Amino acid sequence: MSPSLDDSVRYVKGVGPRRAELLNELGVCTARDLLDHFPFRIDDFSRVLPMGLIIPGSEVTVQGKVVSAGFVHSTRGKAFRVCISDGTGVLYLVWYNMPYMYRSFRPGLSVAASGKVEWRRGSFEIAHPIWRESGTPSEKGPVIPVYHATQGLTSQSLHSIIKEALKVYVPYIRPLIPKSVLDKHGLLSEVQAYKAIHNPDSPDIWEKARRTFAFREILSLQIGLLSMKAEVEKAPSPQAFTRFDKAQAFLRDLPFRLTPAQQRAIQDIGRDLTSGRTMNRLLQGDVGSGKTVVAMWGLLSAVENGWQGALMAPTEVLATQHYKTFSELLGSRARIGFLSGSTRKSDRESTLERLESGEIDILIGTHALLSPEVKWRNLGLVVTDEQHRFGVKERLKLTSGHEILPHMLVVSATPIPRSLALTLYGDLDVSIMDSMPEGRSPVATRCVGRSGRDLAYRALKEELSKGRQAFVVCPLITEGKTDRRAASIVKEELEKGHLKGSILGLIHGSLSKNEINETMSRFVAGEIQVLVATTVVEVGIDVPNATVMVVEDADSFGLATLHQLRGRVGRGKHPSVCFLIASTDSGLRRLKALEKISDGFEVAEMDLRERGPGQFFGTAQHGVPDTKLAELGVSLDVVARAREEAKEMLSLVESGFAPPEIRETVERIRRRFGDPLEYGRSR
Ligand code: ADP
Ligand code: MG
Repeated sequence: MSPSLDDSVRYVKGVGPRRAELLNELGVCTARDLLDHFPFRIDDFSRVLPMGLIIPGSEVTVQGKVVSAGFVHSTRGKAFRVCISDGTGVLYLVWYNMPYMYRSFRPGLSVAASGKVEWRRGSFEIAHPIWRESGTPSEKGPVIPVYHATQGLTSQSLHSIIKEALKVYVPYIRPLIPKSVLDKHGLLSEVQAYKAIHNPDSPDIWEKARRTFAFREILSLQIGLLSMKAEVEKAPSPQAFTRFDKAQAFLRDLPFRLTPAQQRAIQDIGRDLTSGRTMNRLLQGDVGSGKTVVAMWGLLSAVENGWQGALMAPTEVLATQHYKTFSELLGSRARIGFLSGSTRKSDRESTLERLESGEIDILIGTHALLSPEVKWRNLGLVVTDEQHRFGVKERLKLTSGHEILPHMLVVSATPIPRSLALTLYGDLDVSIMDSMPEGRSPVATRCVGRSGRDLAYRALKEELSKGRQAFVVCPLITEGKTDRRAASIVKEELEKGHLKGSILGLIHGSLSKNEINETMSRFVAGEIQVLVATTVVEVGIDVPNATVMVVEDADSFGLATLHQLRGRVGRGKHPSVCFLIASTDSGLRRLKALEKISDGFEVAEMDLRERGPGQFFGTAQHGVPDTKLAELGVSLDVVARAREEAKEMLSLVESGFAPPEIRETVERIRRRFGDPLEYGRSR
């Protein structure tokens, strides 16, 4: 049998059953996956600096032999130090609180390391360097790709496996994008790009390969989405809404006055709904700006004008919370249903029946709303909340397959930098909510190093004694291979230490939905004082009595995520504070910006400068942050080019004059993207 890219990785030279398992853990199952497992970084050892020439404060790459290694105590905890020398000078590599590092070093070992040099304890030091064992540079080549590895499978062994795979499989790669298109944008051919990303001769060619793949990803995504949108939008729009009495009465009965931003958003939506064209609107506003009420007004208007409404939230917790809020605030104005993955079978059946017969006016739920069994009588308005957790594909799924194309309101608390909004949301009108309900004070943010933990938890305890509640957020669920703080461990520590006698709860993604729901409801009810959690609390939870948040290892999160997180406090009348504990000095410096900036858009612009547009692209278009695009280091100009090219290719195909290779590319992408109309048929 001839090789195929669909071959199991097991049969790639140098893999075998044991390594195949490890690769599977990394999501690599076939030869194609292996070629698509890109290095996320390269180490450029072509510019090694002699240690004698080091200037403190600079970023350097050095190479030398281990002279000695040992532990010292420091204010930042137990430090493991390795002394290396290259004959021109000596330098120390230092790891804090990572005792197991000692296993990696022995005297005489050749190592290369890079990082920022600081003058400490009377010598040069690099704290937590990037490092590897090294031969002489010529043995390994000066530019080394670095892969995401797993225990038992190093970056180096991955590289040699991938090199074998390239030898065998390169002839079988079937390029997706015509060479003429890639040429036009000064990119590599796909085959060249595969070779160059895994075996770069220089940093420049590696960058070019990454640009090529980023372009390919974005181009195909755009072609897929634009095609799907065109297909979906063939359906006619709902008739202009004419009645708003109930919706207005609902606003009058609210226990508060609308903010100017809420009023403007409602006007925007009202104009859309009375226009006779299908609304496609993004409602963007910082956490706590009161977007829910605006969405409720829209849904109630739909009901009043004879339509059903849908509200889809990304998590069970959030959907449940909305269901409660809606039931309380709407009262008898609408009949509300709930549907999620954990709805019991009998409830589910009766809900689906009532939905189809029109006895439910507004259905609230999770992704479960996208299931093909959900049949609407006449869906007129779809709201997706916290849209950054979904993607365009999901929102189009919900509106497709109806005889009339429902109105669409996309609600998001993730500010997209203005410079990106047009590219990412080109198909949506935007309402921005830029004022907060009165009486809210911005959450005070304090960034501290690990030595500041004590202070943070003392402040937290103080708030508990006043009857307030608190969040503790950690990057991991359980202790892993890194020294990152894990929620389950932190909870135990706190119960024995700082928070002895307080009532703590734990939620994270690998608990069952029921467990999460139960803990959440107990927290909302005030029975649990401190909720220790992973970022599952990031989205939309509203507990006004919570006034403190402590984020452990905050520097492992993006600034935008941290901004979302701190929005979980400061939602009531009491002043709130968020402590961000950084694990490194450079991390601490990065976080400091959040102490001064409270505007989500500004935070987003900073994140864009720091980490590039990849993450926003992912979150805006298809839900989860796209680590692949972020890792490919996609730049703004690639995004813009790919979007333009997608439009051009599609209009060529529409016109019937497209060259065969363009037509084929578009067809292949459309097939891969799937038929939108197979979802959510109404009758
Ligand atoms: P988000 O925009 O983050 O989704 P919510 O819609 O959950 O925010 O609103 C946060 C809280 O503010 C809710 O408790 C809500 O009842 C309240 N709220 C909304 N609008 C106003 C307002 N105009 N004045 C006072 N409180 C408001
Ligand atoms: Mg919300």
